[in-house]
Amino acid sequence: MSDKYYRNTVLDVNLEAIEKNFRAIQCLNPEKTLIAVVKANSYGLGAKAVSEHLAEHGATFFAVATLDEAIDLRMHGIKEKILVLGIINPVNINKAIQHRIAVTAPNLTWLEQAKNEVNDKYDKKVWIHVKVNTGMNRYGTDDVSEINEMISEINNFSRFVYEGIFSHFTSSDEDKTITEQEFTTFKNIVNQVEQPAYVHISNTGGSLTLKEDFTTAVRSGIGLYGYYPSKFTEDNTQAVLRPSVKLTSEIVAIHRLKAGGSVSYGRKYTAEKDETVATLPIGYADGLLRHHSGYTLKLEGGADCKIVGTICMDALIIKVPEGTNVGDKVIIIDDSSHSEQSMESYSEYTGTISYESLCAFGRRLPRRYS
Ligand code: PLP
Repeated sequence: MSDKYYRNTVLDVNLEAIEKNFRAIQCLNPEKTLIAVVKANSYGLGAKAVSEHLAEHGATFFAVATLDEAIDLRMHGIKEKILVLGIINPVNINKAIQHRIAVTAPNLTWLEQAKNEVNDKYDKKVWIHVKVNTGMNRYGTDDVSEINEMISEINNFSRFVYEGIFSHFTSSDEDKTITEQEFTTFKNIVNQVEQPAYVHISNTGGSLTLKEDFTTAVRSGIGLYGYYPSKFTEDNTQAVLRPSVKLTSEIVAIHRLKAGGSVSYGRKYTAEKDETVATLPIGYADGLLRHHSGYTLKLEGGADCKIVGTICMDALIIKVPEGTNVGDKVIIIDDSSHSEQSMESYSEYTGTISYESLCAFGRRLPRRYS
């Protein structure tokens, strides 16, 4: 998408808030590297803009999920360290070498395959972070002798650098006991092997609520964007996060319904008495789900306007007070956690979490940075 846009539906992204959140999380984790998680296009907000801004304001290390995302950041001029948290296909190890990207080694088999693929086209080394499985059972191993063998393989191969060892919490946003158990499992494993420069396990939930004594880095995604992973996290941290997103649109058409009149596909909503409805140019292609039907938005002046009928791909219909006009602004998601239009209430309405709501924002939705 070009940076120019002509739509009156806009996703405002407050980069200054993201920078302040970065500092707030760093403050709780002094002397640890804060790895900024910018995977999935910075949770939908724009990896290029977010990473550039954070790099200008002190971020030294980014993490993404795929090699493509990492290469994309390099193409956009991000020079800081980048780690791929997911598992790259070992046949692509030379691409990671070419672009100076750190990769995750989940087990010995992967490592041996990757080693066999390394060629001499680029005379550079690749940084490896060994993945420890502490309960996710998604990537990594919990077998200490395998981890020791992996570290020897890395140290004995001139093109590999043993840079990190890490794991990922299953429940840091909801259960302190499980999280502490996983932390202890990680610590016990790491204590039996050689320790590299970066030892990390915490995501936002952990980095906001846990006191860690032996790790050297934490990773944060959702917290940077100004959202607590859960109410549990918010209640158990001193950090105050600032929501970075505001989603607004403008009314493009008004219709007067007579009692018995209906709106949108399937005529699912019927007016009981005469009323006014307005069309907003935002739909499920922008990430506002069909399940949001019935959710209440706000006119800029403060009046409620409930979504009525079926949400279309590119538009939805709201019930509005008399006197509402074409051009009036409507707040869909507000950049305050205390607002009725918070990201949390928008997400809860469809039974999801802010992570998913953010990632669902459509590609064509203009992102306006401030
Ligand atoms: N680390 C890993 C391995 C992840 O998969 C994620 C997100 O899913 C994160 C860190 C960041 O998590 P959060 O957004 O909760 O900080």
